[in-house]
Amino acid sequence: MTTKTWHERAAALNADGRAFIDGWRVDARSGLCFDSLSPVDGRMLAEVARCDVLDVDLAVTAARRAFEDRRWAGMAPAARKRVLIRFADLMLAHRDELALLETMDMGKPIRYSLSVDVQLAQNCIRWYGEATDKIYDQVAPTPEDSLALITREPVGVVAAIIPWNYPMLMAAWKIAPALAAGNSVVLKPSEKAPLSSLRLAELALEAGVPPGVFNVLPGYGDEAGKALALHMDVDCIGFTGSTRVGKQIVQMAGQSNLKRAWTELGGKSANIVCADCPDLDAAVESAIGSIYFNQGESCNAPSRLFVEESIREAFLDKAMKLIPRHAPGDPLDEETVMGAIVDQAQMKTVLGYIEDGKAAGARLLAGGGSARQDSGGLYIEPTLFDGVDGSMRIAREEIFGPVLSVLSFTDLDDAVNQANSTPYGLAAAVWTRDISKAIRTSRALRAGTVHVNQYDNDDITVPFGGYKQSGNGRDKSLHAFDKYTELKTTWIQV
Ligand code: NAD
Repeated sequence: MTTKTWHERAAALNADGRAFIDGWRVDARSGLCFDSLSPVDGRMLAEVARCDVLDVDLAVTAARRAFEDRRWAGMAPAARKRVLIRFADLMLAHRDELALLETMDMGKPIRYSLSVDVQLAQNCIRWYGEATDKIYDQVAPTPEDSLALITREPVGVVAAIIPWNYPMLMAAWKIAPALAAGNSVVLKPSEKAPLSSLRLAELALEAGVPPGVFNVLPGYGDEAGKALALHMDVDCIGFTGSTRVGKQIVQMAGQSNLKRAWTELGGKSANIVCADCPDLDAAVESAIGSIYFNQGESCNAPSRLFVEESIREAFLDKAMKLIPRHAPGDPLDEETVMGAIVDQAQMKTVLGYIEDGKAAGARLLAGGGSARQDSGGLYIEPTLFDGVDGSMRIAREEIFGPVLSVLSFTDLDDAVNQANSTPYGLAAAVWTRDISKAIRTSRALRAGTVHVNQYDNDDITVPFGGYKQSGNGRDKSLHAFDKYTELKTTWIQV
């Protein structure tokens, strides 16, 4: 589609910011709303319902009713499968509309909203839908006078609280396994990008997910989010977001009904490039492409680059030639690869880290400022610091923006120690043609995912999650069912 057509569609966009409870679009009980502004150009997108504890009560009650009367949990798995596949089909049928909502709401380039966000989100719903009638329970190896069944049952009412960086995909990672397992769900999207989640709820209903089974409550974290985390009738909370808020979620689960609390949190991932990496061009392209993808707003962005000293200069030469390709552009132009930063607060945070890096003595080689000021939107140049020291804040803290910190090393063990010397443990990478070194290093790296000689290859078949303060539990793959099911033992005397 041409940029002009995308702009015409954006101008005609009529997003509905009302909540979705028990199969209906509704205003917040308080009548309060907040404005959703687009980071693309500052335009007003929608008035969004500011849900709070009253709306949380209504949604949880609807979800509980739907769970207890078995309208979804009691459906044959093959029937649930058909509904979820229809849901994925509807997402594809509404691909352009969903992609446009995502781009306008959080600023990512339309090409990626189409090819990554909608595509992976519908595939996630489809994959768990497909899995619904293919998972068997177990019979334990008991003595002959007994029969012991080990069965999985849905936990009940699942609350999902998600961030704004991949709004539709994060929603899919939570709701797909939770719904496939037969739970009812109350989803709270981020206040910064709630629109695609709300539209998903309508498509799910159209596909045949019964009313009350999938509810969406937009609102602020310390209002709707907190009320969900503290609710006595929520059985499980699936949280994705910052480590700071993740800690609060776990505390709130403990303060209330000890609901199962699963956390997928922040990262400061290390990408280690050894002098014997098999393809330096590929390593540079991957390092640069992965840090600037999604404006650097990715939990697993390889934001700490460890380059072996002997290839540092060659690496940086190549990197500097690639960086201009990632300059921010109009997110509605299908050629653009870097879009807008989600909001003013995030913009300020990222620019603050850049100033901090400069003040700490890191060498700013590229970027460092805002861009496209005349667009009315929020953009930051792809930024690269060389000469970064492990003690600097830009090397220790999650920036969540297009900022790469380059550290060099001469001793691989030392690089691995530095890579591990962070509270986070989400992802890491090592580039080497020496297979033993690759295996030793990947074993030593304390991260939920370790990439070898690539960074971003990934799919729904493998688990995703963190070690240490990057969280517990895993999204994606069949392992995600562990979060949303209880194991029951039924011991039968024969
Ligand atoms: P955030 O923690 O500020 O907010 C996440 C969600 O929690 C939002 O919906 C927010 O409204 C809600 N929230 C905030 N305060 C709350 C409270 N007191 N009680 C209940 N809910 C509350 O994070 P963010 O800025 O939206 O997202 C960025 C973070 O998410 C980064 O740290 C990033 O690394 C992380 N992230 C992790 C993964 C992963 O899979 N590990 C994936 C994507 C993003």
